[in-house]
Amino acid sequence: MARNPTDRLVPMDGDLASTQQHIEPQTGPGSDQSRTEILEDGRIVNLETGEVTTPPDESVRTGGPSLSKQLDGDVPVVLFVRGARLSQHFADTLPAADRATRGQVGIGAVLPLLNAGLDARTQFLRQFTTNRLLLADPELFRAERSQCPDAKTLGPRAGRRSPWFVNAPAQDSPTDPAWVTEVLRVQRNAGATALVSATGWVDNAAPQRAMQHAMRWVSASRSQAPDEPMFVNLTFDHVWLTNPTLRNVLLHELVESSESLWYLRFRWPLTAPRFGQLVDPKVLDGYKELCSTAALEGKNLILPNSGLTGWVMSAIGATGFSTGIGWSEQAYADQPRFGSTRQNWRPPRVRYFESSVLHTVEHAAHLTMMGEPSYALCSCDFCRRLPLSAPTSAGWNKEVAGQHYLIATAALSSVLASRRPRLAAQRMVNDARTMVQKIASGPTPLAGDNLPKHLDRWLALLR
Ligand SMILES: [Zn+2]
Repeated sequence: MARNPTDRLVPMDGDLASTQQHIEPQTGPGSDQSRTEILEDGRIVNLETGEVTTPPDESVRTGGPSLSKQLDGDVPVVLFVRGARLSQHFADTLPAADRATRGQVGIGAVLPLLNAGLDARTQFLRQFTTNRLLLADPELFRAERSQCPDAKTLGPRAGRRSPWFVNAPAQDSPTDPAWVTEVLRVQRNAGATALVSATGWVDNAAPQRAMQHAMRWVSASRSQAPDEPMFVNLTFDHVWLTNPTLRNVLLHELVESSESLWYLRFRWPLTAPRFGQLVDPKVLDGYKELCSTAALEGKNLILPNSGLTGWVMSAIGATGFSTGIGWSEQAYADQPRFGSTRQNWRPPRVRYFESSVLHTVEHAAHLTMMGEPSYALCSCDFCRRLPLSAPTSAGWNKEVAGQHYLIATAALSSVLASRRPRLAAQRMVNDARTMVQKIASGPTPLAGDNLPKHLDRWLALLR
């Protein structure tokens, strides 16, 4: 369908509401009723009457809350980030997440622009309906002239494909309206339903000045998008959360600015294991203060690349977070510097996200957990395609397991769509801790990387 890219930035709730057909209830995570069941091919069977129906085309069905509700911060938001790998089946995953959350969560998508091919840059976001929050992230925090430790220099060929990235000015240089125009244009062309400002890394050496420069570029972006939804798009080192002086600079800006949409990424310290959670209490406390302040001030705060840590923060006051199938989409963190010697090589691990302990475990640990009598197999659309009960991981499909993770994450967020999200999250974390204890009293307790080490910290945060 040909669309004027800029048309997508106007909320279309009214148009879509008139064609809305709501499907409920259904089985799956987050569902508490089971009168219908979704077949593997997507059709829905009514268990009482035996009637089989085909769900309406996703293009006319608004599965979730309206975009304006999501932008107002009235519902939890989860954004699935397209990874460099394992991203072919996003089209199935978003509607499945709508069903699993019974439309209570804004399920959106993020296209990181830098590694996306030219086709993906124009087509990826356009496969989704415009009631979703769809972002095209220019990833400016990595730009060569930023002071980010992960700053990238693109080769000539990659540079020609991403001129906005190569030409990103240093943050303290004079405002360049032509460059800002280009950054916003790339996002509109990609089919974004909200923009992010032409800003990136905010350095911590001279925090006050760095923040002033960043907000100058935010203003330049705003002046070119006066009536469009646009997030203040900033990336920081985690020291901005732990150091009271830096944190106050950030909180002051959040409180005083007239901008209501904030997309704030923090570079975590080295976080182990991969697919684990942030456990540094100082960073978590800083996040908590940020999220509580955002909620008090009525700001819509999205925490990109924060995985389930973003889920906990959504219970405390953030509107939502982004995550993805790969570890780098789940956490933006300092990376260990491995050599490339053979001694460092390990066979790829087969992992599975266990909602019942809020942690990703290896396949062997998953089998152990199934021995616990109170363990319930996930019944999401994707787990039905995984050999969950098989004694070996032969036939395992990483992408399908990744889709299960995304659905499970969305389902966890639907729990937060309550009047008391913090209490709801507390219950989930308590249940997870109880499950870990039950398994510990069995023959094979969870250990090493399979043992979640974040649950006590999360309970302390949620109290
Ligand atoms: Zn599942």
